[in-house]
Amino acid sequence: MILVNLNKDKFKYDIHSLVKAFYPAEDVQVLTTEELDARENTDETDNAPDIRIDLLEDEGHIDISFLQEDGSYKTENAECDRGDNADASASTNGTEASLATPKNALKQLLYKGLCEKAERSLPWGSLTGIRPTRIPMQMIYENKSEKEIRDYMRGTFFVSDEKMDLAYNIAVREKKILDSIDFKDNYSLYIGIPFCPTTCLYCSFTSYPIAAWKKTVDTYLSCLEKEIDYVAEAFAGKKLNSVYIGGGTPTTLEPDEMRRLIGYLRDKVDLSHCSEFTVESGRPDSITREKLRAMKECGVDRISVNPQTMSDDTLKRIGRCHSVAQFIDAYNMAREEGFDNINMDIILGLPGEAESDVRHTMEEIEKLRPNDLTVHSLSVKRGSKLAEHIRTNGYFLEGDTGAMMDIAREGAAKMGLTPYYMYRQKNISGNLENTGYAEEGKAGIYNILMMEEVQSIVALGAGTVTKRVYGDGRIERCDNVKDVKLYIEKIDEMIDRKRKLFG
Ligand code: SF4
Repeated sequence: MILVNLNKDKFKYDIHSLVKAFYPAEDVQVLTTEELDARENTDETDNAPDIRIDLLEDEGHIDISFLQEDGSYKTENAECDRGDNADASASTNGTEASLATPKNALKQLLYKGLCEKAERSLPWGSLTGIRPTRIPMQMIYENKSEKEIRDYMRGTFFVSDEKMDLAYNIAVREKKILDSIDFKDNYSLYIGIPFCPTTCLYCSFTSYPIAAWKKTVDTYLSCLEKEIDYVAEAFAGKKLNSVYIGGGTPTTLEPDEMRRLIGYLRDKVDLSHCSEFTVESGRPDSITREKLRAMKECGVDRISVNPQTMSDDTLKRIGRCHSVAQFIDAYNMAREEGFDNINMDIILGLPGEAESDVRHTMEEIEKLRPNDLTVHSLSVKRGSKLAEHIRTNGYFLEGDTGAMMDIAREGAAKMGLTPYYMYRQKNISGNLENTGYAEEGKAGIYNILMMEEVQSIVALGAGTVTKRVYGDGRIERCDNVKDVKLYIEKIDEMIDRKRKLFG
């Protein structure tokens, strides 16, 4: 366990994320002095903090002390802004803005100390936010030069050259794509289908096994129709830029159910400005030719068929209940039915996988030539079966996720796929990122609009989150309950929440 003691209740989350990024297998606790004192009175364990942080921003500095092997502390300090600027870094757009705010000064000092202690640096430096591309993106919009952007990312957050290239190149590509879409003050739609064939080991999404929930699908679709009625009324004057049906696994719906859902949407909402209509068809064991035909008939122009890995052993281990051969059949069937924009997802850092498995996965994928490839680094979510598995069996990473990422990047490049969006997650393997690669003209528009938070996303279905993006960049959210039964029961309340948000 790594214990961090903080003199006041501030920046706890940032401190925790940064320490955890260096020590992913450790339990990290960040406690204020008050909390530590309370623990000392009730707990027999050793309460000597590994790191002590004194935020003295009113005096313009921060002290951090690291516990040494001989029991003494080595203290470093940094200057920072005082007074009113103290919270400037918590800007509404989520970027970590100015150099000498207490937050940035703290993270810089902590990062340097952790590098020394762990004897390594991190590819993303001190950045712990989930959207690192937003910093270069914002600076591009401010007409900053490439050099200014690189200097800022390197100087303020210690981002490596490799990650700097990734973030900058993605920001440039995203801006070009965004400039071609009339997205401002318009919206995109997300529809969640929370059913799956079975539950994968690493899953943290809203997912119910379809076999047990088959009878509920009809009522669930009726609720989605009610939400669609609301969208038709509330967004009548706006353009719908993209539709994404995700989940869960939308292809657990039968062909007629799929026709019913998309048909209803088409009847009620103007799709004439919709540049992209995606249906996640992630699990190959849910795909049939009839379902593919139904989607094609309904105007779906982008689908995702996900292998995650091309190893049958790993697929069994992660509870996917389909084989590599089934995946290849489903993919080929989708091509035969005329889908010319197919994404594949793979995950790096899966239990028991090493670099050689990733190399094999990429070689097999190269034979299939998807238009779009999303490379995820495994993220261990609290509440997933995987988190439980780790609690019982310990941490299991067998390879170097950074090296796996290089193999995936090189494989994507061989297929002519270049990065177009990325994001990071909490507890992500190797403290890396998830990156979407795509052919020219095949980049997922919804992914960019959603990840860059440049327009409102109206989300329908159980466990979905609607996001309203205001003209000044401010963002407000409202969520639908996760529990399907509760969602059905409270459907009017779910719609009322949206009414209030968009009021
Ligand atoms: S297919 Fe996706 S949503 Fe369904 S159980 Fe697996 S990870 Fe979860």
